[in-house]
Amino acid sequence: MTNESPRAVLVGDLPFPTSLPNFQRLFSDECACVDYMVHVRWPAGFICPICGVKEAPLRISTRPRVLRCSKCHREASVTAGTVMHGSHSPLSVWFWAAYLVTSMTPGMSAVQFQRQLGLSRYETAFQILHKLRAAMVRPHRDRIGAPFPVEMDETWIGGRTRGEGRGHHHKTLVVGVVEQRKRRKKTEVDGCLSPSKALPRRGGLYAGRLRLGVIVDRSAKSLETFALESVQPSTHITTDDWSGYDKLASRGYQLTQVAQRGDPDVTEACLPLIHLVFGNLKTWLNGIHHGVSPQHLPAYLNEYTFRFNRRFYPFNAFRSLLGIVADTEATTYDALYDRARALPPPPER
Ligand SMILES: [Zn+2]
Repeated sequence: MTNESPRAVLVGDLPFPTSLPNFQRLFSDECACVDYMVHVRWPAGFICPICGVKEAPLRISTRPRVLRCSKCHREASVTAGTVMHGSHSPLSVWFWAAYLVTSMTPGMSAVQFQRQLGLSRYETAFQILHKLRAAMVRPHRDRIGAPFPVEMDETWIGGRTRGEGRGHHHKTLVVGVVEQRKRRKKTEVDGCLSPSKALPRRGGLYAGRLRLGVIVDRSAKSLETFALESVQPSTHITTDDWSGYDKLASRGYQLTQVAQRGDPDVTEACLPLIHLVFGNLKTWLNGIHHGVSPQHLPAYLNEYTFRFNRRFYPFNAFRSLLGIVADTEATTYDALYDRARALPPPPER
């Protein structure tokens, strides 16, 4: 092979593209995408969820998304329980969207997406991106932290203060917690493609997982509630010396409070990662989305967090966005069996 673009990496026994040409070859048409989904959902071969028979399903050439059990002849849809279900757009378009959204172009607009894929309707592009964005919300997120220490801080986002005196008018208060991780040797593990994105900081630290949230005020109650929801008990938390954080130690955390007094050197030394996150977040919100209104901010925080936490694992991001995880337990009977052509409930994530 001469001058080939980077090859796909294998994650488990599934290929994952590392370049656009590579992506195009892997997911060239509807059948290629369907085969991929079948492989993800039934890695050991199709098992009929009704009669339990393990036998290659019958395929229908005019309905490539349908698998028909060779014994009981019931039909299953490969897209059941995913965001793609009920969509008339080709699966390859969905795959492109998920790939671009997770690994290529943060904050891609519907107009850009429509143009890139040559879609005739803007509404199609908008709907696809909208559904993928909705899939970035994980209602049952685990708490982060221990064994890793975390940095916690809050910041104001958005709004204008011009002509209204000093203070935070129309601004939204955002709280964040991020894990401090020690930089490891560059190794490729489990779909980890880009160790160089590891945001190296002084002392070999880089950011691990992130949680962001909107809070109504800087009170101890608001901050402690967020900490308890987001951070594992016994985690070592570093904060500034704002009194709202004082009681975290009595809430089961190891607490270090740093007196910053507006000194950027102290900030850089003690809370480097969370401030880096806040800076990048604001740049992203302002630059790509031209600012975000307070009611939409939580959705954008979700999107930012989703991408941030999976930046080393585009493969996982890609699959979880499409809702094609190997575990299909969350799929209900009705969702799996596509008789009524009804939209299934959103998949559990
Ligand atoms: Zn069957």
